This record gives sequence, C-alpha cells and structure tokens, in this order.
Amino acid sequence: MTVDLEARRAELLVLRDRIERAAHDVVEGDESAGELSSAAGDQHLADHAAELVDREVDSSLEENAEQIAHEIEVALGRIDEGTYGTCARCGKDIPEERIEAVPYAILCVDCKRLEERG
Ligand SMILES: [Zn+2]
Repeated sequence: MTVDLEARRAELLVLRDRIERAAHDVVEGDESAGELSSAAGDQHLADHAAELVDREVDSSLEENAEQIAHEIEVALGRIDEGTYGTCARCGKDIPEERIEAVPYAILCVDCKRLEERG
C-alpha cells in the first residue's frame, strides 16, 4: 500500500465540502447566482466554475450529490478501517488510476458496472 491515506482523507474532505456547496447551489438555483454576480461575486463564481470542471463529479452532480456525499463518507470510514483502496464488494485492489479519478470510489470498475446494471 503506497497510497498516502492522510492525503486521500484530506482530499475527500475537500471534495465533500465542495459537493455540499455545489449541491446547495443547485438547489438554490439561478436566483442566488444572480445576487452573487456583482463585484466580488463574479470572482467567486469563476472560481466555483473552475473547481467544478476538474473532476467527473459535476457531470452527475445534480442527480447524485447525495449519493456521492454518502460514498465519500463510506470512503472516509474505510480509510479509518484500513480497507480504503480495496473493492467493498469483491475485495480486490481498486486500480490507482481509478482512485485518482474518483477518490471516493469504493468499488472496482467491474463491481460498479454490476451494481449499475442492478
Ligand atoms: Zn470489485
């Protein structure tokens, strides 16, 4: 295990915070975004937009913010348990590149597919 778990934990906490804020913005809708569009608000929105494009998170955010927040919680718990980085279903190691792309991933790609298929 060469993964720096503390770095992962910090990353997950940041991600959770980001998702909670973004989910809130989605709920609030355009009205509050309009209010923010003056002076400092423009900067804020630009930063916010930049934050949101850097991961696959935003593509599914509107439907899945709650689900992702839950997965982050589970992933954090798995860091504590020492099982982070292994698939919660089959127990295999989750490939590093998947963890890089989706730090809250708790299933390997195969199991994720199976789960999505139902
Ligand atoms: Zn698996």
